[in-house]
Amino acid sequence: MDYAASFYRFKMLILAATTRGVRKMDRIVQLPDNIANQIAAGEVIQRPASAVKELLENAVDAGADEIRLIIVDAGKTLIQVIDNGNGMSETDARLCFERHATSKIRSIDDLFHIKTMGFRGEALASIAAVAQVELKTKRPDDETGTLIELENSIVLRQEPVAVANGTCISMKNLFFNVPARRNFLKSNASEMRHIIEEFTRVAMSFPHIRFILISNNQQIFHLEQGSLKQRIIQLLGNSYNAKVVSVKEETDFMKIYGFTGKPETAKKTRGDQYFFVNNRFIKSPYLNHAVMNAYREMIPQDSFPMYVLFIDLDPTQVDVNVHPTKQEIKFEDEKLIYAFIQAAIKHALAQFSVSPTLDFELDAGIQQLPAVSQPFTEDKKDIAKASSLFKGFTQKHQAHLIDKPSAGELKSWKDFYAPIPKEEAPLFDYEKTEKQQQVFAEKKKQAFLIDENTELKQVLHSYIIAPVNNSFLLINQQAAHERVLYERMKKIAIGKPAVTQRSMFPSTLELTPADAVLLNELLPDLQMLGYLIEPFGNNCFVIQGTPADLESGNEKQLIDFTLEQYKHFNTEIKISNREKLIRSLARQRAVKTGNRLTEPEMRELIGSLFECEVYNTAPDGNPTYLEFKLEQIERMFGR
Ligand code: ADP
Ligand code: MG
Repeated sequence: MDYAASFYRFKMLILAATTRGVRKMDRIVQLPDNIANQIAAGEVIQRPASAVKELLENAVDAGADEIRLIIVDAGKTLIQVIDNGNGMSETDARLCFERHATSKIRSIDDLFHIKTMGFRGEALASIAAVAQVELKTKRPDDETGTLIELENSIVLRQEPVAVANGTCISMKNLFFNVPARRNFLKSNASEMRHIIEEFTRVAMSFPHIRFILISNNQQIFHLEQGSLKQRIIQLLGNSYNAKVVSVKEETDFMKIYGFTGKPETAKKTRGDQYFFVNNRFIKSPYLNHAVMNAYREMIPQDSFPMYVLFIDLDPTQVDVNVHPTKQEIKFEDEKLIYAFIQAAIKHALAQFSVSPTLDFELDAGIQQLPAVSQPFTEDKKDIAKASSLFKGFTQKHQAHLIDKPSAGELKSWKDFYAPIPKEEAPLFDYEKTEKQQQVFAEKKKQAFLIDENTELKQVLHSYIIAPVNNSFLLINQQAAHERVLYERMKKIAIGKPAVTQRSMFPSTLELTPADAVLLNELLPDLQMLGYLIEPFGNNCFVIQGTPADLESGNEKQLIDFTLEQYKHFNTEIKISNREKLIRSLARQRAVKTGNRLTEPEMRELIGSLFECEVYNTAPDGNPTYLEFKLEQIERMFGR
């Protein structure tokens, strides 16, 4: 199709769409292409990072071995991808912006043999509907290349141009024509983090491609071609160098390879966990559960090992067409894959004598494993689902999460606690209503009287028992301390900055590029709270000072853990960055369960707790103490 013909076709399409169906009683009209594309874009292009993902994947599909990503203003102003792949003809350059225009599949059948990242032919049409696009492309055998400019899905310009082999596509002013969505974008730092995340996922699975990321003229990544391990370390940080073991198993049915962290890499948040199926990054709580199962008893509960795992299997065994951004897929035989992954990880850990026991068999035939031959029960599946981060978080929304008593249990069980009724308890402090504030003010008047004569007892190095009136309190020392620190920092955040104590021996902190972006974003708030941290270039920072009220010594670890904790907060939850930071810091600085407290320490902690504005819950909404009333206890003893 030549230029004029395709332009004509384009015009006719729009004409037909807008004039169709205007008889009086008919109400349905077919949407013009540009509107249809904008709607499709809603699914595919949600934020700058989603465009980054699509453009990087196109460059990969084009067979490039060098891909540059150039970002301005976290992609809000410019996202540009330059590849040295096979380019497009003049006609294809034009066609690629049409919806469902793809060179990657021809028939339904092809859907089950997909070897490329893309296949729906939606991305470029969607991008052209929500940004100003400029495409320059040339195939190696062509004399000249093609330049095309589009806006609102409409071609403004098309002409021959002298360019290098490959494709350079620029999208400017994302959502310039959809102000509502533009306003919905988050801060630059936050959008940039999403971009780095997508970049990481693509760069991780193609270590033989050189990737470069430049943001606001600053080079963030320059990833040379190399091995998978080199790529992982470039992306996730040098600290993993000696702390991963290689995973490699192969059967006729599938292959798994990659790296998994030694138990000591387990962190409090599930940061560095990557699954790729046929080189496509996917999210799967189910497969994640298989890995976690392999680590059972080797790492503390609620901690997450690092892993980067590639699973390759016959494309007919997976359906990648079940999710708009293709991040979820369906396996023909999920159980088998679960068992395979679990066994492969156990094997890897054992080979490097990381695992204490050899309680499994491998290679002799995965098929014979009990986990494979036995049916995978529903409740096991539920466990897998329950392991998702999301669930953990939604549970915490409940101010007082109390399991329903099952039949046969004491009826008075629920009264045993004296929880504040749910509607009174704030889910989070930031959303405390006026009514709740009143309730708390009143509650405060009835605060427990604990004086120097009150006998305090620590049990299990984690809880403090304090008798009050006709009851006793069982105080969770960590939750209580979190509350105390949280309120202290909140006060500082709205008042004058905390006093900083300059360190005599400033320590340096080396972070991954992604964490460096995050820390940079947090520096002003950290300074407010007394942490004086200065960027030192190359993802390094110097901790010049810490809050005067904080014992110094482990500030490096504190910042590291705080960043981890910070990332743990679900992005869907609308709390300010400062709130997140304060909660993360409170969590990190608080005395942990398992720590012995001296009598004066207990007294100080409890005194401070009951001076808090909200003393009955930790910042995450979980209780700081439970009250056991004498009459309830007596009832339980049948008196
Ligand atoms: P899909 O990737 O699902 O096919 P896209 O809308 O992302 O759909 O791209 C449409 C088509 O444009 C692709 O099938 C491909 O033929 C072509 N194309 C897109 N980007 C590039 C690129 N960087 N180099 C060469 N061809 C490209
Ligand atoms: Mg694509």
